[in-house]
Amino acid sequence: MAIPQDLLDILACPDCKTAVVLEGERLVCGKAECRRAYPIREDIPIMMIEESRPLERSEWDKVMATRPTPAGT
Ligand SMILES: [Zn+2]
Repeated sequence: MAIPQDLLDILACPDCKTAVVLEGERLVCGKAECRRAYPIREDIPIMMIEESRPLERSEWDKVMATRPTPAGT
């Protein structure tokens, strides 16, 4: 994967400050009430609220079901 784990570990949702989860070509906020997905462009995570879009609850559930729960809340 192009995004190093140590970078992922320090990335957080700019909206709610929750850790994000890598899912394909995007980073998904781990907070159920937020569920924002941030795009990755040319290996650069775009951590901007204006660039994100909130996932449907069912879609977010699917992402989180396949990933370990992000550290912290
Ligand atoms: Zn968030």
